[in-house]
Amino acid sequence: TSSIAEVDPEIAAVLDNELQRQRDTLEMIASENFVPRAVLEAQGSVLTNKYAEGYPGRRYYGGCEHVDVAENLAIERAKAVFDCDYVNVQPHAGAQANAAVYHALVSPGDTIMGLELAHGGHLTHGMKINFSGKNYRVVSYGVQKETGLIDMDEVRRIALEEKPKLLIAGWSAYPRHLDFKAFRDIADEVGAYLWVDMAHFAGLVAAGLHPSPLPHAHVVTTTIHKTIGGPRSGMILAKTDELAKKLNSAVFPGQQGGPLMHVIAAKAVAMKVAQSDEFRDRQARTLEGARIIADRLLEKDVADAGIALVSGGTDVHLVLVDLRDCPLDGQVAEDLLHEVGITVNRNAVPFDPRPPRVTSGLRIGTPALATRGFGAEEFREVADIIAETLISGRAADIDSLRARVKALADRFPLYEGL
Ligand code: PLP
Repeated sequence: TSSIAEVDPEIAAVLDNELQRQRDTLEMIASENFVPRAVLEAQGSVLTNKYAEGYPGRRYYGGCEHVDVAENLAIERAKAVFDCDYVNVQPHAGAQANAAVYHALVSPGDTIMGLELAHGGHLTHGMKINFSGKNYRVVSYGVQKETGLIDMDEVRRIALEEKPKLLIAGWSAYPRHLDFKAFRDIADEVGAYLWVDMAHFAGLVAAGLHPSPLPHAHVVTTTIHKTIGGPRSGMILAKTDELAKKLNSAVFPGQQGGPLMHVIAAKAVAMKVAQSDEFRDRQARTLEGARIIADRLLEKDVADAGIALVSGGTDVHLVLVDLRDCPLDGQVAEDLLHEVGITVNRNAVPFDPRPPRVTSGLRIGTPALATRGFGAEEFREVADIIAETLISGRAADIDSLRARVKALADRFPLYEGL
């Protein structure tokens, strides 16, 4: 019955300090967002106490009548949002959803093919020391040097040569749409499953502002906490329920034990929110913000400082800043923006000459600021602050830039009354 401040003042201080940090700074990590109060409530609820191994109506524990309602709501709402017949809401996170796909569709030693990590792929798409790189034979495709784009002729050429059993489309750092139909045609031609990992752009898909992979892929995975703005967790979807049995048993008992029912209830809330007009408006502002930032960073004063954008722009919620011709490296640029009060992450760009811990890139995303309420006017001011910081580099007037950030943050209060 005691509050956290009484039980554990050290952790209570962490919560207070983190809330203050989120309020005072501008969050532009492309994979982050702010969940609604309703999601915090579901996730911080008594559902955390419940064991519910199995699936609704088929549990291995008693007392599941209420959590069954939550899981069924999460499933049905997700089916409606993404217009599909199969959903599994139990994966604890994106990586667990992905692990289940491997477990269901391929065997150790089989060939898998995804986007190279250094060109924007995810760890779980075959990175050497990830389980995906250790258990499977990995072949990768990259982006073209001149355009920064994935070339589908090249993907086809590699697939015909390497004959993967699983073809992966999806990314953690790629600013453009993928051609899901072309991926499926290639998968069909070589007899592979097509798996799309839409972790990053799922919120845009849910709002109808990005092509949906569901009509094309055999299976789709996502996180719920990026553009969607729900609880930190994962989900597996498919247009039909053809692979339902395999996928379900790969999640439980294949990969996981008890599902996190408090998180599943929060996923249900997120899927309800995803059906609202407010959600669609937020996703539209997310896209608009990214375009405004891209446009500003393509202007002459920025280009003259040796700063470019991978692929020359964006179709999604992020831009990838290319610092290969700039004296600033990714680490220094990330630190400078941090001093100004803007949180981003350094990110390797394709064909990056600098080491992975330094990098020549920044990944800058707009989902969290759109959730905070930012529109075109505010995104123009943010874009200008970023441009000025990067152009001035170590000579930047940090105090005045930080004051501009603080003024924006103060205009959009976060979690009032928390
Ligand atoms: N897939 C992609 C494309 C991602 O970008 C991420 C997260 O960065 C994941 C999967 C993994 O999600 P999680 O961090 O929840 O395991």
